[in-house]
Amino acid sequence: MNREEEIVARSLSYRKQYVEDTPGWYRGELHLGFTLAFTIGVVWYCAAQLQNTTWQEWLFVVIPMFLFGNWAEWAGHRYLLHSPKSWIKPAYKRHVATHHQFFSHKTLDYNGHKEWRALLFPPFAPVLFVLAALPAALLIGNLWSANAGYIAMLTMASYFLMYEGLHTLSHLEHPILDRLPLVNTVRRMHVLHHNPDFMHTRNFNLTFPICDALFGTSDLDKGVLGTLFNGMSDEARKAEDKAKLVAQQNERASTVAEAEPASTVPAAQARA
Ligand SMILES: [Zn+2]
Ligand SMILES: [Zn+2]
Ligand SMILES: [Zn+2]
Repeated sequence: MNREEEIVARSLSYRKQYVEDTPGWYRGELHLGFTLAFTIGVVWYCAAQLQNTTWQEWLFVVIPMFLFGNWAEWAGHRYLLHSPKSWIKPAYKRHVATHHQFFSHKTLDYNGHKEWRALLFPPFAPVLFVLAALPAALLIGNLWSANAGYIAMLTMASYFLMYEGLHTLSHLEHPILDRLPLVNTVRRMHVLHHNPDFMHTRNFNLTFPICDALFGTSDLDKGVLGTLFNGMSDEARKAEDKAKLVAQQNERASTVAEAEPASTVPAAQARA
C-alpha cells in the first residue's frame, strides 16, 4: 500500500463509521432545506424593504463585502480550521477530523442524504453568519441609508449561499461541472485542498481563489486573473507541489497508520 492508497482506505472506513453514527432522525433534505429557506428568506425579506436604491448603495456595499468575505473565508479556513493554534478548537477538530477525513482528494463525492451532514455547515452556522453582519448593517443603515443597511444583510446571506453552493459543486461528480468557467477552477483547487498532505498549506478559498493567489497559498504559479480562469489544468502547479504529489505515490504507507483503524474521534457535526 502506498501513501495515497492509505489515505483512501482511511477515508472509506471513516465514512462507514460516520454514516453509522448519524442519528436515525437525521434528514439531509431537512438540513439543506433549512439552510436554503433561511438564507433565501433573509435575501427576500431585505429585498422587499428596498426603496429607490441608487447604484452607489449597491456598488459601495456589495464590492467591499464581497472582497472582505473572500478574505474572511480564506483567513478563517487557514487560521481557525487548519491551525492547531486556532482559538475555536472544536471547529478545528471538526474540520480536520471530520470533513477532511470523510472527503479525501480521491473520495470527494458523497452518496445519499446522510452524508450531507459531513458536507454542509451545521444549521446554526447560517444563522450565526447572518447575525454577525447585523451590527455593521445597522451602523451603515444609520450613518448612510436604510437601503444600504438592507443591502448589507442581503449580501451577507447571498455570500453564505454562494459559499455553500460552490463548496457543494466541488463535492459533486458531473462532467459538465469541469467545463463551467470559474466553477471548474474552484473544483480543481478544492480537490488538492482535500489531499491530507496539502490541506494545511494550500487552497483555502472555498469560493473564488482571490486571496490564495494574492497571499501565495495557491498551488498555481499564477496571478489573480490567471488563477481565477485557470480551469482544470495542473500545468502551472508549483514545482514543489508537483514533487510532493509524486512522492506521495512512491512513499510507503506508515506502518502505524496501517495497524490502527481510522480515527476514533466521535463523529460530531461537520462543517466545511
Ligand atoms: Zn479545509
Ligand atoms: Zn470540501
Ligand atoms: Zn472543505
